[in-house]
Amino acid sequence: MVITEQTLKNKTSLVTGSTSGIGLAIAEELARQGSHVILNGFGEAGPIESLRSKLEEKYNVKVVYHPADMSKAPEISSLMEMADKELSGVDILINNAGIQYVSPVDDFPPEKWDAILAINLSSAFHTIRLALPGMRKKNWGRIVNIASAHGLVASANKSAYVAAKHGILGLTKTVALETATTGITCNAICPGWVLTPLVEKQIADLANREKISHAQAKEKLLREKQPSLEFVKSEHIAQTVLFLCGEAAGQIRGGTINMDGGWLAQ
Ligand code: NAD
Repeated sequence: MVITEQTLKNKTSLVTGSTSGIGLAIAEELARQGSHVILNGFGEAGPIESLRSKLEEKYNVKVVYHPADMSKAPEISSLMEMADKELSGVDILINNAGIQYVSPVDDFPPEKWDAILAINLSSAFHTIRLALPGMRKKNWGRIVNIASAHGLVASANKSAYVAAKHGILGLTKTVALETATTGITCNAICPGWVLTPLVEKQIADLANREKISHAQAKEKLLREKQPSLEFVKSEHIAQTVLFLCGEAAGQIRGGTINMDGGWLAQ
């Protein structure tokens, strides 16, 4: 394949949780633009290796995979060390790994609370604190945190997720202030419903709970929150990431971009 224009040539991007869903679409778009990519996330070794080699060959960039469990600080350190050693550090950091668990707060298992806070929030603190020194040396960097509409408003039964996503918007603004006079920016994207495995599970649970079809559950989920009645596409989130990586976005600092089919307009 002939690649005509690659705007991120020779940059290195780390996308956490990029073996599936939104992270995978972002990783592919960054590779398409010429960035070397570090993949991360869970999954079977075979399909992950196929994905890694496919991206490498298709876009003529270096693609490596690191299996760090983003709930574990020492594993995050080893991921960031590998980025320094093998790819001269992380220029573009996409904090995307995330999980969900749905339950009323009085029944919420404390271990699920801890896991969600660790993966959806603390992991970004660790990647950011470890990536920033290298970005400061180059006086260039892009940090994009994949938050959620739940970073700005709540829904019942999602206490940990809502707390973590509100938290990551606070972290985004703080990092943006601490880097405000540099070439490093830090912003967040707040998607509404995106049809990924994370949401498919919620659709299946809703269908089971209410004894309705999969199609009915899908529609119910959208009707409840998302006025467009359409899912946001992962590829469109990847395009927004790309925009935030560009020069024109250099003075977007500490911002949140909502991509939610009107969820937050209500
Ligand atoms: P997904 O389940 O398709 O992908 C999640 C990714 O994170 C996978 O690659 C998974 O392996 C990885 N992951 C999970 N736990 C991990 C861990 N401990 N260590 C390393 N990797 C881990 O989900 P998605 O919908 O693509 O979600 C991606 C991000 O987008 C999440 O932060 C999520 O909160 C956010 N988000 C999703 C939606 C949506 O509707 N799908 C909406 C708003 C925000």
